[in-house]
Formats: sequence, C-alpha cells, structure tokens
Amino acid sequence: MTITDAQTEHRGNGPLPAASSSCDVLVIGGGPAGSTAAALLAEKGWSVTVLEKDRHPRFHIGESLVPMNLPILRRLGVIDEIEAQAMFKPGVEFCGRHHTGPGTTFYFDRAGDGMDSYAYQVRRSDFDEILLRNCVAQGAEVVEGVKVTSVEFGEDESSLVRTRDESGVDREWRARFLVDASGRNAFLSTRLGLKRKNPQHNSAAVFGHFENVERRTGRDEGNISLYWFDHGWIWMIPLRDGAMSVGAVCWPDYLKQRKGSVEEFLWETIQLCPGVHERMNNARLLGEATATGNYSYESERMWGPGYVLLGDAFAFLDPVFSTGVYLAMNSAEKGSAAVDACLRSGKTEEAPLAALETEVRRGLRRLSWFVYRFTTPAIHDMFLSPRNEFGMVRAVIAMLAGRVFGPRIDVLPLFMFKASYYLTVALNWSRSRALSRRRRDNLRLTVPDNTGPGRVET
Ligand code: FAD
Repeated sequence: MTITDAQTEHRGNGPLPAASSSCDVLVIGGGPAGSTAAALLAEKGWSVTVLEKDRHPRFHIGESLVPMNLPILRRLGVIDEIEAQAMFKPGVEFCGRHHTGPGTTFYFDRAGDGMDSYAYQVRRSDFDEILLRNCVAQGAEVVEGVKVTSVEFGEDESSLVRTRDESGVDREWRARFLVDASGRNAFLSTRLGLKRKNPQHNSAAVFGHFENVERRTGRDEGNISLYWFDHGWIWMIPLRDGAMSVGAVCWPDYLKQRKGSVEEFLWETIQLCPGVHERMNNARLLGEATATGNYSYESERMWGPGYVLLGDAFAFLDPVFSTGVYLAMNSAEKGSAAVDACLRSGKTEEAPLAALETEVRRGLRRLSWFVYRFTTPAIHDMFLSPRNEFGMVRAVIAMLAGRVFGPRIDVLPLFMFKASYYLTVALNWSRSRALSRRRRDNLRLTVPDNTGPGRVET
C-alpha cells in the first residue's frame, strides 16, 4: 500500500523495492515526540533514523510545560541543559473576563504525592533542538531538511518511505517499523483517512511573541497567565529572554469576523481583554503573528501493522492546560517500549500497542472534560474562587501539573469537582444556556484555514 501526499493508493502484496538506506525504526518528525522516541529506541540499541522537514532551531508554538514533563526530561538526561535556558514556572494564574491586576494562582507545590513542584516555560526552538541533538548523542541518525512525501507498507510490515529534500532531490528509505511523529501535519493519519475533527470542540488560535509586556513580579514572574474573554481565552507565557508569548484561542464565529491581517486581528483581540491589554500598553510584536486552523482532532486508531502514531500525529487537544508537549513525550516514552517489543518479536505486537492506545485515550478523556468546559461561566467562577472541600483544589492542581495517567488519579475529589460544576450550571441555568447554545452553533462552523495576510501554521 502506498500513501502519498496526493493520494492513498492500494498495491499488491509483493515485496517492496530496495532503498538506498535502511534502519530498524524510521521516525517522521523531529519534534518532542519524535526526538523522545528516537532517543529511547537508539538507547536500546536499535538503528533509528529521524527525518525532519525543517532545520533546527526552528520556531514552534507551545512554550509552557507542566511538572509531569520533568521526569521524562531527567530520564532523557537533558534536564540541566533545558533548565539553563528555561523560565521557572511555579504555577498557573487564572484571570477573569473583566479582571485587571493579578488573578487567582494555583501553585504546583500543592499537588503533593511526590510530584515536581514547578515546571518550565521554554523557547521551543531551543527546547526542541536540545531534544533532537540528544537523540543523535544516543546513537540515532537525524536528517534535517527532508520531507516525507509517501509511505508504502510491504507484506512483512516493513515500510518504504520516500522523501524530498530542500533541493528537490528524492530518496527512499526502508524501515522495519515506522513511527509517525509529524505533529499537527498528522502525516499517516491524514493519508490513511483516520483523522477525525473533534465533534465536541472547535476553536483556533492567533499568537505571537512580544517585547515590553508587563510581567508579574517575584516568585510569580514565570507563571503562565490565562485570561477568559468573550470569545475564548488568552495565554501569556513569559520566556527567560524577556519575550512574552501571547495568544488567543477563539470561537470560530469570532474568527470569521476577521477582516485585516493576522497581526491586526491579534491586537484587536488583545484589546477585548482589559487585563491583557493593560499589560501590553507598550508592547511590540517580535516577528510575525501566526494563526492556526482546525484545532482539535483525534485519529480513529493509533497503530497498525508496522506503524504507530505518537504525539500530535495521533491527536490534538486544545492546550489550555499546557499539556501538549507532555502528552507528546509521554506517548513517545511509552510508545518506544511498545515498538521495542515489536522489534524484538519480529512482528507488530498487539498487546503493548493496544495498552498504549487505551492509556493515551484515557488521559485525553480525563483532560477533555476540563478543556470542553473551560470557557463556561461555571468553570470561570470555580477557578477564580476555588473551594477546597474534599481536596478538590489539590486534585485540580495535580491535573494542571499533568497527572492524567495511571491509577493514582484523585477519583473522589475530581468527582466532587464535577458534581459542583453541574450544580453551579443548574443554579445559573439562564447564564449557562446562552453559552451552551453558542458552543453548539460553533461546533457546526468550519474554522477558516485561510485566515488572510500573516503567517498561517502549516
Ligand atoms: P511537533 O512538535 O509539531 O513536531 C512535529 C515535527 O514533525 C515538526 O518538527 C515538523 O517539522 C515535522 N514534520 C511534519 N511533517 C513532516 C514530514 N512530512 N516530514 C518530515 N518532518 C515532518 N503544548 C504545551 O505543552 N504547552 C503549551 O503552552 C502549548 N501551547 C500551544 C499553543 C498552540 C496555539 C498550539 C497549536 C499548540 C500548543 N501546544 C502546547 C501543543 C504543542 O505545541 C504540541 O502538542 C507539541 O509540539 C507536540 O509535539 P510533537 O512532537 O507531537 O509535534
């Protein structure tokens, strides 16, 4: 079967043609998921090749990490290098619709249970480069400036991968196992027809890096600030070099109103949120503003004979709680163990891959409950005036720290939090009804991919 950029073509089951290079594992994409999987598989002694279409360091959005990232960074041996260029992030600040001045801060040191009490804000160009160079140090081959254009699977589950480099030169690669970590390009998922728009969530983002943005002070300087506003929510992520990442995740009906450039729209959006606007009176955009389209999606399956989809290449959830990089690296860490089992047995092993898919889907489901409801008035009130009955605050902080996998989830406190949410909704039904109608209408809208002048994420 050949899967190309332009088409999905089915082929006979004959042997695959020879290729100029071969390896045990071929990884599409050198982002956090690809680099993590490549490093861990190379460490186990497999021959691993990573093909990356860009050249690192390259810009990427998604700068705020969660404490659960830290054990993986330690395991990869890169924590000191990351820490040297990162901003210390002890917590998450939530600010209301009409809020100016500081909001309500949840500090990770209240999460307990031996979890790390802080995380980092990172410039992704530096962070991703450290991870990519680390997989070379572990023995993987990394080839940059090479875009995967087609994949063909043979009857023995191996794959033939075709690429085109920056000079237009085509090349073929053979691999025993294929790891798709191509991020939101979702290479295999798209071409195999597995990618599904999330039926419960529909939004998109506009963002940029700015200088001269007012920061919080003292211990709070490195916290992420999240602001609600009438058309979604806005993040402010302070980076160590003084820049601030600012972005708005918006409802499609609002995005459709845009007339000017992406940059003009970002500034107009900032003005709609008094708290953010106040901190950006003297701000200046560094580089270009960017827009993303078609936000949340999931793939129908995570693996098949000879391949697995990791990180955003499998699913993408609105990163309101800064979990994207952690979810990508976690799926890569666990996915590399499953791929190792397949390589050892010489065939695709259903048990470890199915267990991986179940766990990843469970974690996404746990987070989704909060993500889908984040813009509701009830969550707004509950985060701004938190109540700690049944340990609800600690449980929410643990979730914000990224604890969404495994058996140590705070079942009772989270159940009570959800019960309080539904009670709050019921008691304020008229307020909630308008929002739920808008949400329903927006689920039917298509987020405009072509957002006009300005950079659009590809
Ligand atoms: P990526 O980091 O996207 O890496 C994929 C790599 O594959 C890229 O380098 C790409 O060039 C390469 N590639 C793609 N196609 C091909 C091809 N055909 N051939 C070769 N190479 C290819 N997450 C957080 O944790 N915190 C945040 O604050 C946060 N904010 C976000 C804000 C926005 C607006 C968005 C869109 C995302 C945000 N995320 C955040 C999510 C986060 O960016 C991703 O979840 C994370 O980067 C996923 O890592 P990955 O390795 O799966 O994919």
